[in-house]
Amino acid sequence: MFAFDNTYARLPARFFERATPASAPAPRLIKVNRPLAELLGVDAEALASPGGVEVLAGNVVPPGADAIALAYAGHQFGQFVPRLGDGRAILLGEVVGKDGLRRDVQLKGAGRTPFSRGGDGRAALGPVLREYLVSEAMAALGVPTTRALAAVTTGSPVAREELLPGAVLTRVAASHIRVGTFEYFAAKDDREALSTLASYALARHYPGARASGEGSDALALLACVVDAQASLVARWLGVGFVHGVMNTDNTSISGETIDYGPCAFLDTYDPRKRFSSIDRGGRYAFGNQPRIAQWNLARLGEAVLPLIHDDEDEAVRLATAELERFPSVFEAAYGRVLRAKLGLAREEGGDAALAADLLERLASGHVDFTLFFRRLAASAADASADAAVASLFAEPGAFHAWAETWRARLAREETTPEARRASMERVSPAFVPRNQRVEEALAAAVLNGDYGPFETLLDVLSRPYDDQPAHAHLAEPPGPAMDDYRTFCGT
Ligand code: AMP
Ligand code: MG
Repeated sequence: MFAFDNTYARLPARFFERATPASAPAPRLIKVNRPLAELLGVDAEALASPGGVEVLAGNVVPPGADAIALAYAGHQFGQFVPRLGDGRAILLGEVVGKDGLRRDVQLKGAGRTPFSRGGDGRAALGPVLREYLVSEAMAALGVPTTRALAAVTTGSPVAREELLPGAVLTRVAASHIRVGTFEYFAAKDDREALSTLASYALARHYPGARASGEGSDALALLACVVDAQASLVARWLGVGFVHGVMNTDNTSISGETIDYGPCAFLDTYDPRKRFSSIDRGGRYAFGNQPRIAQWNLARLGEAVLPLIHDDEDEAVRLATAELERFPSVFEAAYGRVLRAKLGLAREEGGDAALAADLLERLASGHVDFTLFFRRLAASAADASADAAVASLFAEPGAFHAWAETWRARLAREETTPEARRASMERVSPAFVPRNQRVEEALAAAVLNGDYGPFETLLDVLSRPYDDQPAHAHLAEPPGPAMDDYRTFCGT
């Protein structure tokens, strides 16, 4: 079924614990991701067959799998926890896809592991569907992310505030190595494990950057992760994504978005926006994400410090130099994202100020982020579309004033209006997973066993840059009822 080629399970025994998925009394298939199965070289029909569903539910460990729970630590809301690990996820193994890339195949919600502490190792149906929808939407938006290969229900209820249907998500990731994986070994002063992990991660994710010489793998890795995270967060900001729980154990070394818990998308633009019910201080608010990414990277830098140089001052100097690149790398990446959204192919000195001025106006005008940029693409081709853009602002004049400067700037571009519109529509989606639509789809599935809205939303979000007039209602912003929308951690 899977042509497993496992490497992480060959690492030293202290990198993981062996784990056996719990049995599911009555597994039922919800969804198999056929295009992803195809990419992985996995037979989607076999996955969807009764035998495949047994595997997806954890009842059968397929041939070639080496079921393990990975060890990691992490800073959660700034507090260090030395032992977290996969408490509700079991890595089956790795497959090399048709694109030549190696990926982890993991069952999330398949029962207790040695890292479960007080938890039940299970997942409820709602959060599984949520991760499926949002991670696949992010992939279609072009944002680096873990993927969803399949979802099944287990037939065994999980106890949360109430009894909920239990489910398992089959998650696919470039790897599950996190900043917290490095912190785990650093906290144990296990220099040998740190060194093995740094070399492994560099070879697996950044083979082109592989350096030689003492300490160079760790420093090269730090540099690569700084670049990857800066670029990732810039992409998040470009689509209005709020991760919600950017702890270091949820920060992937590969630069993929990972661990969809209380994530959400902006409706009206507000950099202070946070949705997570547990993020009371707004630590992980939309506009804080770049700063937090840099903070998380500093934890990675600290963890690998002993590998970088025997002389501590020199190690600190080298690591700091990499970490201090973050703001400029991020600004450059975010600048590219914003220029593309404004229809600017060339770069000019005043572009950042033009974008910053716009974002301030979006915030003070309570403007819907996704609708604004989609409509702006039409305005870029034809100024008669301006009224529809301005109407999004509490004070339409705020748009018209900005648009004058923007048009003067566009006049210095060489692209034709139609080409400009097309390029803007390739970076500003018509559809994102609107919070209220996600909730509706989840409620229909969980409360009524009706997967229709989930399927429709998933299908529409697989082509987020296409206007799909038949589904226009899925692009509409919510009413004021959603102003206090809160998300909960996906356990
Ligand atoms: P998260 O906040 O979802 O990233 O998870 C943080 C830690 O809690 C990780 O070590 C998870 O494995 C663990 N965890 C979360 N939910 C459960 C659960 N239901 N059972 C056991 N461990 C869990
Ligand atoms: Mg996590």
